[in-house]
Amino acid sequence: MTLAAPKRRRALRASQRARGDDGAPAAAARVWLFDLDNTLHNASASAFAEVNAGMTAYIVEQLGLAEDEADALRRQYWLRYGATLLGLVRHHAVQAPHFLHATHRLPGLESRVHGHRHDFAALARLGGRRVLLTNAPADYTARVLGALGIGHWFHAVVTIEDMRMFGHWRPKPDRRMLRRLLARLRVPAPRCTLVEDTLAHQKAARQLGMRTAWMQRWTRAAGWGVAAATRTHRRPAYVDRRVRTLAALRRGAR
Ligand SMILES: [Mg+2]
Repeated sequence: MTLAAPKRRRALRASQRARGDDGAPAAAARVWLFDLDNTLHNASASAFAEVNAGMTAYIVEQLGLAEDEADALRRQYWLRYGATLLGLVRHHAVQAPHFLHATHRLPGLESRVHGHRHDFAALARLGGRRVLLTNAPADYTARVLGALGIGHWFHAVVTIEDMRMFGHWRPKPDRRMLRRLLARLRVPAPRCTLVEDTLAHQKAARQLGMRTAWMQRWTRAAGWGVAAATRTHRRPAYVDRRVRTLAALRRGAR
């Protein structure tokens, strides 16, 4: 877990006290776990097509497959493991840092990143602790947060590099990783809400006892993270709420 620098942390604590959300014991304050892509910004428009193309090209180059085979393998591993990376590491001994770097260069990303102003205003007003929890790599995450101008609102930023356990990569929806995160944050699961566009991640969070909010602002257009059989107007049992704005999180937050 990459915690904010001590100076920034002190400033954050001071601002939290000023907003009155730091007075309660840590266990009593809600912890918000925010996904990044297609939850806080429209990654389908800014990055996903290029990242996917980069992954396919990487597989072509490293595994010597034809492009259509490489694309099918990329999708297969994403569906099976929740991340193409895991399949490549497990079955092809791909070096994860090399893969992440090669597929997330994304020149000009900052000029394409687009969030929603009202969401960020709501994020700033939200009581409790905010933790960014993304399967994306740290460099990419820092660039997106910088472009959106919202990095300072997070108490901690957890990226895929922080999701390694005993030599294994354990990105969302890995429950062991989520359990460790809860322990490190010292928060009981029911006081934690995962805000996320990917249903598989919500299902794992609910199995641990967390609350879940399904962010759908960009889901309909993207079709991302939604199983083929799942319609966005339905609410699976493991989803507490469907939201299209972050302002909606403040209603009934406790
Ligand atoms: Mg997402």
